[in-house]
Order: sequence, then structure tokens, then C-alpha cells
Amino acid sequence: MKRRPFLQTLCGAGLASAFASAQTASEKAPAKKLGWALVGLGSLSTHQIAPALLKTRNAKLTGLVSGSPDKTEKWSKQYSIDAAHIYSYERFDEIIKDPAIDVVYIVLPNSMHKEYVIRAAKAGKHVFCEKPMANDAEECREMIAACKEAGKLLGIGYRCQFVPHHVEAVRLAKEKVFGQVKHIQANFGFQSGDPKQWRLRKALAGGGAMMDVGVYALQSCRMLMGEEPTEVSAIETKTDPVKFAEVDETVNWQMKFPSGRMAQCCTTYLFNGYNDFTAVCERGKFSLGPAYSYSGLKGTCSGGKNYLDMPDVDHFQLEMEAFSQAILDGKEFHPSGEEGLRDMLVVDAIYRSIQSGKLEKVAPV
Ligand code: NAD
Repeated sequence: MKRRPFLQTLCGAGLASAFASAQTASEKAPAKKLGWALVGLGSLSTHQIAPALLKTRNAKLTGLVSGSPDKTEKWSKQYSIDAAHIYSYERFDEIIKDPAIDVVYIVLPNSMHKEYVIRAAKAGKHVFCEKPMANDAEECREMIAACKEAGKLLGIGYRCQFVPHHVEAVRLAKEKVFGQVKHIQANFGFQSGDPKQWRLRKALAGGGAMMDVGVYALQSCRMLMGEEPTEVSAIETKTDPVKFAEVDETVNWQMKFPSGRMAQCCTTYLFNGYNDFTAVCERGKFSLGPAYSYSGLKGTCSGGKNYLDMPDVDHFQLEMEAFSQAILDGKEFHPSGEEGLRDMLVVDAIYRSIQSGKLEKVAPV
């Protein structure tokens, strides 16, 4: 299939444009490399984002924001970052005077996303923010408003939207290759380790497995259905009420879509093994599992042809190239803050349903 018609068939203009941006970013010789600063030099920044920034064609690591001088000293040597572009959290706002930094990537605990997105926008920088976007939909609205007011782009780190397996799965759904998608099951969880980590503190994480990895399953359902859920019902259970006193351990939830179709999902901090989705269609089904890992995604399809047998890509390289290209081209970016807001409206309804024990409506955008 030729690239343009293929793109036009993708689910929603947003996803098509995201994929187009990703493709364009890796095809075009860039006029310039935008400078990216990382805020928070933890696990994701260390093992995924910084290495990906060594490969990006139109972006490079030019700034660091951290509370740990030991870390910044090591990083500045490893990535040749001059001391003039290294900031503590207290001095963060001084990036307003730093022309080497075009984009700020927020890679902090979830509850800190709002504050740093708003401060970055006020400092006149474009902002890329890790998922989950914030603690709730209200915070998402404030972040969107701040970036709009500053005239800066806000992108959310939904890396799967740039991964060919996911893009192709959305095409299979949109083009009804196996007939209409009738039902989706999507699950993502893992066995949580250290009981002292911030992910188990509500004040820092906003919630538990649902906020951390449940959002991947939720995203898959929204993308593959091609419509927004209107009602949810959810239950949460704990096997370890002490370790998970502040956040959810395992959540099962169901979503009703306007067409009457349903999706069923599970997210957990209790066990490994759930990392997949299956879309059951009129004339067969297709699945990804693992679906949300950084590499090694595996698809299966009914019939003889496996449309989802694709090579690995660097998810972080693609998302950062796409965001940089949108800035360089003066275009909108998807997944934007609105995409994060849509997810968070559903997450808010899921938490309300856990509390009320009833079906809850998803609030409008
Ligand atoms: P991490 O704990 O490894 O790193 C967090 C960083 O924040 C650390 O450098 C820590 O020093 C810093 N920090 C600043 N103030 C802090 C405070 N008060 N408490 C705790 N840490 C503080 O976490 P991570 O795994 O790198 O996750 C960071 C963000 O990235 C989270 O929002 C997470 O959801 C997201 N994430 C996304 C993906 C993905 O695939 N897109 C994967 C992992 C994590």
C-alpha cells in the first residue's frame, strides 16, 4: 500500500498526523537540531530517553534539571552538557534565559507533572510530558491552558502511538480488515517491587497501577474502537492492603462506547504476565502481546497473514523526532494535552466507579 493512502485510512486524523510526523521526521534531513532538557534523571531518562536522544535526527540533549549534583556531574560528562545548562529544581525557571533549550521533557513522578509543565511553558519552552499526564482531568486542563497562553506545544509521551505495530492495528480496525471490531480486551500490569517507591505514595503517583500502566490498555481501546467511551464500571481489589494502602493494586474495568460496543480491561501491580490486547472482529481477531514493552512486540492475526509481524523501533526516538518536527514545521502535535485529558476523564470516571460501586459517566471534554 502506498504511504499517503495508508496514512489517510488511519484511525482519526490525529493518529494519522502523528504517524506522518514520525515518518516525515525520519525522512527529512533536519535544518536544525532542537535542544531538549530532561527534568528528572531517573530510570526512564537514564535507560530510554537519553540514549534515544543520541539517535534523533532533529533533537539533541542540551540541558539537565535534577536535584542531585552527583547525577548531573556524571551526566554532564557522559553527554557533554556544559554546566551553564544544568539546573536544580529551585533554579529551573532560569531556563527562560537559556537559548540552548527549546523543549523541556518532564520525566518526574506523576504528581509533579502539572507544576513543571506550567513552569516550563511560562519559561517560554515547548513541553513534552510523560504519561500519565497528571493526577486528574482538572490538572490536565490547567496544563493545556498554560501552554496555550504561552503559545507553546504540549505533547504527551504516548510512545505506542508511534510504534508501527500499534499504527497497523489501528489501520486493521479502521479499515475493517477482519470486519468491524466488536469487543476488546486489553491488560497491562506488573509485579511491583520496592514498597518504599514513589509509585506507591498517592501524593506523588496520584494513583496506582491504573495511573501507571492501566492507561496503556485504555489508550488501545480508545484507538481501536475509534470512538470515546461514555460510561465505565470498575472494581479494585487488594491482596496486600499494607503495601497498597494509598494506591490501587488491581483494577478491572469495563467501558461502554456510543455504538454499544464494550471493552474490558485489567491493570495490576500484583503479577507479571498481562501486557496485551485482543480485538475480536466480525470475521476473526487480531492481538498484540507483548503489546506495551519497549521492544519485542508480537502480533497475531486470524487467517494466513500476520499484519502485525514488524521490526522493532525505538519508541522514544520516534516520539521525540515527531514532536521536534512539529515545532520545526510550525504544526500541531498529536498526542497533545487534549489526548492526555481524554484519558484522564476516563480514569477519573474509573476511580469514581470504584468508590460508588456504580456505572459512572465519563465527563465531556
Ligand atoms: P524514577 O523514580 O526512576 O525517576 C523519577 C525522577 O524524579 C528521579 O530522578 C527522582 O530523583 C526525581 N524526583 C524529583 N523529585 C522527586 C520526589 N519528590 N520524589 C521522587 N522522585 C523525585 O521514575 P521513572 O520510572 O523514570 O518515571 C518518571 C515518569 O515517567 C513517570 O511519570 C512515569 O509514569 C513515566 N514513565 C513512562 C514510561 C513510558 O514508557 N512512557 C516508562 C516509565 C515511566
